[in-house]
Amino acid sequence: MAEGTSRAPQRPRRVPQRTCISCRTTSNKRSFVRIVRTADGCAVIDPTGKLSGRGAYFCDRLSCWEAGLKKDRLGIALKTTVSDEDRAALRQYAATHIRPDAPDEQEA
Ligand SMILES: [Zn+2]
Repeated sequence: MAEGTSRAPQRPRRVPQRTCISCRTTSNKRSFVRIVRTADGCAVIDPTGKLSGRGAYFCDRLSCWEAGLKKDRLGIALKTTVSDEDRAALRQYAATHIRPDAPDEQEA
């Protein structure tokens, strides 16, 4: 019942950091793609970043999408079960929007 007096925190505006759920890279790059869990438990791409709900990010490496979907990191991050349908849609998105980069460029 407490109607909390929500004072606006006077912190300086921070750039939102995004963390790839696969490689754990943190960045504020816009190339990170947000996946959001909808009210009915579906995992969908949120290109505008405006949908409400629990969100998770993938970076712009195709390998991260592959790994994240394969090992169901996404489902864990979103605390939902990613259906085969959603998974296929996400793969499709990755295939059309994410450019495959040089394999293992950063790993030794
Ligand atoms: Zn990544």
